Amino acid sequence: MQASGFRDTGRFMLRPARPGVYTPTNLAKLMRCLDPQGNIALPIRTRGAGSASTDCNQSPAGTVIRTTGLDRIVRIDAYNHTVTAEAGVRLGTLVSALAKQGLELIGNHDSMERTLGGALASPCMGPGIGDRASYLSSQLINVKVITAAGKVMNVSEQKQHLLNAFRLSYGLLGVIYEATLRVAQDVGLKFYLLPHRNRVYIDVRRYETDPGSAYETPWRIKDWGESTVLPHVFKSLNRVIPIPSVRYKLIDGISAATHGLVNSKFVNNGNNFATTSRRRRTKPRNLLYSTWCFPATDFSVVAKAYVDFCQQTQQSNGYRCDMPAVGFRVSKDPSALLSPSFDEPVFALQTTSTQQHGWDDFVIDLAQFAENWGGTPLFSQSRAFRAEHAAQSYTTRLDFFRKIRRQLDPDNRLLNPFLAQSFG
Ligand SMILES: Cc1cc2nc3c(=O)[nH]c(=O)nc-3n(C[C@H](O)[C@H](O)[C@H](O)COP(=O)(O)OP(=O)(O)OC[C@H]3O[C@@H](n4cnc5c(N)ncnc54)[C@H](O)[C@@H]3O)c2cc1C
Repeated sequence: MQASGFRDTGRFMLRPARPGVYTPTNLAKLMRCLDPQGNIALPIRTRGAGSASTDCNQSPAGTVIRTTGLDRIVRIDAYNHTVTAEAGVRLGTLVSALAKQGLELIGNHDSMERTLGGALASPCMGPGIGDRASYLSSQLINVKVITAAGKVMNVSEQKQHLLNAFRLSYGLLGVIYEATLRVAQDVGLKFYLLPHRNRVYIDVRRYETDPGSAYETPWRIKDWGESTVLPHVFKSLNRVIPIPSVRYKLIDGISAATHGLVNSKFVNNGNNFATTSRRRRTKPRNLLYSTWCFPATDFSVVAKAYVDFCQQTQQSNGYRCDMPAVGFRVSKDPSALLSPSFDEPVFALQTTSTQQHGWDDFVIDLAQFAENWGGTPLFSQSRAFRAEHAAQSYTTRLDFFRKIRRQLDPDNRLLNPFLAQSFG
């Protein structure tokens, strides 16, 4: 920590705070980062694993608090089925500690490099099984937060409205220091869409009372195929094969073969531990992505429109994503004030690519497509969304959230220019 030891006595000029990144390792250090008396550059943004694709975790002119030093699992209560952990604990670490006690996270969650705080403060969504298992934050029963005023605040289920506001609060209401979740509900649906092949691979997940052995090896092969082999091979092919038609034919063929093989032949049963235990990445994956949520009722029409959109975009400007789009059904879940599936179940559609050149223009077109088809943006995952459209999508809930935010952070210490467009 720097600078927090100085006081403005009027006799000396306080040096203006410089932008900085802090990684506190305990509560006291975290509180010092947020202390209004500390000469810390504003705005303050919290970052967990840094896997979000928008600027929600950035503060180039201010301060970034990285929570990865807060990595203690405080308590696993195998009797009441709860776990309490600090915000910087990686989901993968949490999942394996729970597995040792015969417990697991409720819901299906990938990307085990994420931090608990990041996964609670932004929509950590997966193919939820049962009605209320889509966001990890639905399972939050108590949260300890350091407010913008540098004070510790405890929010339990007794203060339900406030707790709802803290779920998916993007670090705007305070920094989550510690959280308690319910751990260890029937079908989850995930899919891989190859728009240029007009093909989809479907992964149906269901809870089983006696699933048999959840062998890790097939899941490791599946993960390796989907998230390591494909991006690397595609990056290389993009470099070595200059003719787009030849290159993309090959890329689509490899995608189809990989998904056909790993999803239908190898993997039958598993749990959060088996699906992810061998890939405790500490760095976010080097993939470009943008995710939008669409009402589930007419998603079949949207999926077809998406295929047309991808094909037309390629014809008009040559850009296309090389990775399959991934999607899953997210149940209706009003537990978070900023839940994208507050009123109805949605399908999250995640467009993914390794192709940087042309991506920035593509995500603008994608945002326009999503708007036209009733898509709801995610403040941490939807690239190039318009603040006006976000306001329409989240309606009066966004106004209510803003009111709480202004009360808890009247000086906008936690608001960066990106988030100010929607929350200012
Ligand atoms: C290739 C790829 C695929 C992805 N797929 C999915 C997916 O399928 N489903 C999904 O839900 N997400 C997905 N994500 C998005 C991302 O992983 C999530 O948004 C994740 O929950 C963010 O966790 P993080 O620790 O990386 O947080 P960060 O990205 O560091 O932060 C995200 C937000 O949370 C806030 N925050 C972080 N920690 C705290 C804290 N302690 N207190 C208060 N606020 C905090 C930040 O300020 C920021 O607003 C994907 C990302 C990538 C790169």
